[in-house]
Amino acid sequence: MAENHHKVVIIGSGPAGWTAAIYAARANLAPLVLQGTQPGGQLTITTDVENFPGFPEGIMGPELMEKFQAQAERFGTQVIYDTVTEVDVSKRPFKVVADDGTYTADTLIVATGASAKWIGLESEQKLLGHGVSSCATCDGAFFRNKEVLVVGGGDTAMEEANFLTRFCSKVVVVHRRDSLRASKIMQERAFANPKIEFIWDTAVEEIIGSKETGVTSVTLKNLKTDEVKSFPTQGVFVAIGHQPNTSIFEGKLDLHANGYMKVKPGTAGTNVEGVFACGDVIDHHYRQAITAAGTGCMAAMDAEKYLEALEMSVASV
Ligand code: NAP
Repeated sequence: MAENHHKVVIIGSGPAGWTAAIYAARANLAPLVLQGTQPGGQLTITTDVENFPGFPEGIMGPELMEKFQAQAERFGTQVIYDTVTEVDVSKRPFKVVADDGTYTADTLIVATGASAKWIGLESEQKLLGHGVSSCATCDGAFFRNKEVLVVGGGDTAMEEANFLTRFCSKVVVVHRRDSLRASKIMQERAFANPKIEFIWDTAVEEIIGSKETGVTSVTLKNLKTDEVKSFPTQGVFVAIGHQPNTSIFEGKLDLHANGYMKVKPGTAGTNVEGVFACGDVIDHHYRQAITAAGTGCMAAMDAEKYLEALEMSVASV
């Protein structure tokens, strides 16, 4: 086989990808991980991770991902910083085309994750991890007794707002329309929460602050009256949805209507034999590092079983 052929190629390097690599490497499958544009995935844009078991003092997101990688490499995982642009899963070996090379694989593990949607402000990216977040579960506890903003009107925004009231003294939901998209039950819960207030028909135009001070205020624009005002706040949680990173698989692997990848229930198997998926790319519900790691383990074990069956069928020919 060519030098670029591997038994297992893993696309993506978040908790799912690295866990799949650890398991595949320990099964002597010498997996290749193609890291993608954001090595380490979403955890690299968060600060302290306090809910990953095994780290009672908490750990920084990037450091946790370095530990995952080191553990995968210890058992023989090959890691390449390369971004996949195209896949061919119509026949085996599967073909993976990336910016710097083409790879072939007997099994493919898709761990490309999901990305939070952002408003699109420069200040939003500058203050990410310094008062701006897209994950209340990850960062909410850093805003104890503070006043924060949640942007969005869907279930995620309501869930984040409710969750944040455990820590924050006040949570203001800023929504671009005058009615919520969220399900009735989530709306009712948010309306009934005395710590949650709403600002309707409004967009966040600018986030003010610095890495030293954190967020200090936002500029809000009423979309009906065009009135612009400064609004003091100490945190901004952007909750306008997530997007699974599945565009390169469209038309090649079965996806749900919302873009997330389909797997057979209770497994990591996609509709193509030998192609497995794990982590946030298959999960729009839990979206936690620990659940991603769990399905990463499943994908590697499923791939190992598939390869065993393949070798047995080749041997018996
Ligand atoms: P969503 O339903 O698509 O809602 C996104 C919200 O963000 C909408 O209110 C939208 O406004 C707003 N928005 C979108 N782009 C924006 C922008 N550029 N600027 C300002 N606002 C923007 O996304 P989601 O809330 O993440 O939910 C995704 C799916 O997961 C849904 O099916 C939801 O039911 C499900 N979910 C369920 C639960 C639960 O049941 N516990 C929890 C979370 C998510 P408009 O309304 O004006 O479009």
